[in-house]
Amino acid sequence: MSREQIVDDQVQDSGDQAQSVVMESLRNSLQDAEYEEYDRLVKALAAIDAGTYGVCADCGASIGEKRLKHFPNASRCIACQEAFEARKQ
Ligand SMILES: [Zn+2]
Repeated sequence: MSREQIVDDQVQDSGDQAQSVVMESLRNSLQDAEYEEYDRLVKALAAIDAGTYGVCADCGASIGEKRLKHFPNASRCIACQEAFEARKQ
């Protein structure tokens, strides 16, 4: 009986631990996503203030109305964004 009790406790402990790890990584990913969104918004607002909204941060070309419609926070033209994504990988 006492042996079974110990096994039960161990199972419960590892289950709690696994859940807290999942919750922690979920919380971290939410914070990261929220921070990125916040960061993009701040940059977009700063660009509007500076009169550079809609202008590619890398090459200075117009990002384009169509692209801004789909990606209001875009800071690069399609060509520079593709180059940026390629550099990240
Ligand atoms: Zn560009």
